[in-house]
Amino acid sequence: MSNYRNHAIAGILFALPFAPSLFYLFFALLGASIPDMDHVNNKNKVVVMFIIGVILAVALSVYDKLPLSAMIIILVAGIFYVSKHRGFTHTLLGVSVLSFLFTLIVMGFIPFINKLLIVSNIAWPSSILLFVVMILVGYFIVSRKYLLWYVLLVGIYLFLFPVDYGNIGSSNVFLMFFIGAISHIILDLWTPAGLCLFIPVSYKKYHRSMALLLILIWIICSLHYITVNGSLLTNFTSIFKYA
Ligand SMILES: [Zn+2]
Repeated sequence: MSNYRNHAIAGILFALPFAPSLFYLFFALLGASIPDMDHVNNKNKVVVMFIIGVILAVALSVYDKLPLSAMIIILVAGIFYVSKHRGFTHTLLGVSVLSFLFTLIVMGFIPFINKLLIVSNIAWPSSILLFVVMILVGYFIVSRKYLLWYVLLVGIYLFLFPVDYGNIGSSNVFLMFFIGAISHIILDLWTPAGLCLFIPVSYKKYHRSMALLLILIWIICSLHYITVNGSLLTNFTSIFKYA
């Protein structure tokens, strides 16, 4: 089994060609750890995630009739809890669905925060609000061993290069979560156990040849994306762009 650190590094490397700015790499870092939330060692974290989701849903319902992010936190915790290791969360369908749901969690807080700002009449800096959301999501996913480093890194980045939460692009957030999670799948395909990648369509187990095919697809997509959209690898002025 590849360890947390290897997955985190792979997530960042695979996302680099697609990242519109440096900040988005934090989403890839998180995405790279999403599939292993099904591991038995993470069951306590998943229970905490569920409890926080319920508390947020109750608390946020004061300001928001439908606290979307909180409801999705509960749903995602449920998916992790019932998934057996290297099952649904390690399939193409699973990483697509979970990347989408985590994007909704991140983006779903924006309307609530806007309402809260209007009601409370407090001009919180946007970076602080984004920091809180990033730490909340990181708390669910990041290994406890590296959580402090994650908090420090996100905090230092947002302090030095403030990001307007409202300018974060949802499609880019999804892309980063997805590529991070796909990098996890590629690393796990490299292990002898392999993965049943196409559940529920097929229960066939895939190994290194599928990992190589996914890497080939990644190379082609990377070159195409960089050519069409540019990248922080080729255009350094985009490093601190967010939309
Ligand atoms: Zn895994």
